[in-house]
Amino acid sequence: MNGNSRGGSGGTRVLVLNSGSSSVKYQLLEMAGGAGDRLASGIVERIGEVPEIPDHSAALKQVADELAAQGLGLDSPELAAVGHRVVHGGTRFTEPTLITDEVVAAIERLVPLAPLHNPANITGIKVARALRPDLPQVAVFDTAFHATIPDYAARYAIDTATADAHGVRRYGFHGTSHAYVSRATARLLGKEPAEVNTIVLHLGNGASASAVEGGVCVDTSMGLTPLEGLVMGTRSGDLDPAVIFHLSRVGGMTTDEIDTLLNKRSGLLGLCGDNDMREIGRRMDEGDTAAQLAFDIYIHRLRKYVGAYTAVLGRVDAIAFTAGVGENSAAVRQAALRGLGSLGIEVDAVRNAVRGSSARLISAPGGRVAVAVVPTDEELEIATEAYALVST
Ligand code: AMP
Repeated sequence: MNGNSRGGSGGTRVLVLNSGSSSVKYQLLEMAGGAGDRLASGIVERIGEVPEIPDHSAALKQVADELAAQGLGLDSPELAAVGHRVVHGGTRFTEPTLITDEVVAAIERLVPLAPLHNPANITGIKVARALRPDLPQVAVFDTAFHATIPDYAARYAIDTATADAHGVRRYGFHGTSHAYVSRATARLLGKEPAEVNTIVLHLGNGASASAVEGGVCVDTSMGLTPLEGLVMGTRSGDLDPAVIFHLSRVGGMTTDEIDTLLNKRSGLLGLCGDNDMREIGRRMDEGDTAAQLAFDIYIHRLRKYVGAYTAVLGRVDAIAFTAGVGENSAAVRQAALRGLGSLGIEVDAVRNAVRGSSARLISAPGGRVAVAVVPTDEELEIATEAYALVST
């Protein structure tokens, strides 16, 4: 065991690390009094692509150097913990977890479920532990918030023994964002999370919807992997699984080729050649029909999920838009909820057009369902969860 002791350091700062396959993002947050002030942040990119940063170890050393240059080094006694974003926690990790050797091994066993993400997360954890073996390190899982989804929504209707043998079920992702945004939406309404039913629409390059009942997640659009659900920047979202057999048998494509097609060459990019909603908007203004059709398909899927989760929740108090597209595209928000007045959902065009960086309501005054734009802050959520774990 690597002797991570809980608390005791007396520190009040949390370093949040998000280690991806070719980049490490970091933020140092001051958590005293629940402040969450950002003391430093940055990103080390192109890991393995440039000679100065051959691997994650070098990237993390650069993070440490950048922090030290600002007088905020990893050796600081004010550091209470490192919070690591980990994409897949499987069915085992449903809470933020203090990292031990055994926990690292368990995250390694989940690699087959997230072959692109978990290995980078694990490398980040290992390097950070080597740099500060005495410091508590906490894993915060993207899947954890969705652990409350009931079996009837989490299980696919396939042979149970086969599903169980291979861990096939809906796990959901972006959980840290859905958790943060659903709570922030309740706060915006002046209510407790337990009092509010919310549909959260996390629309970034990856996109997912969730149905949150009284603060508890009851359904989400991503599944075994982040491929299912909404149309995304480069991912297809929902499709008939027989498309895959067809592309294999009739199209002669290999499994890896289909995997790449659906994850990297589909979604908005596959439909119109662009995955950035800003560019798609510009093209639509010029009358580009491919961009228009891509937008319409994206919106149609989104509306179907809003309808589905309205039925799942029974009573919807709020719909919250977040992430790059959700926070910035008034056109997407307007189109997604157009004509839903009979469900009590009405977007106010003037409020919707106002840009801003804080949580705000965009619904028409008096509308039964509050429609909100709620900027997500996954780093703050990770820091909050990690700090709560080490300071208790
Ligand atoms: P994220 O993954 O949350 O960082 O979101 C990235 C995506 O947000 C980009 O690919 C764009 O499609 C979208 N985005 C960012 N800024 C804007 C904007 N001003 N208007 C529309 N879409 C935007």
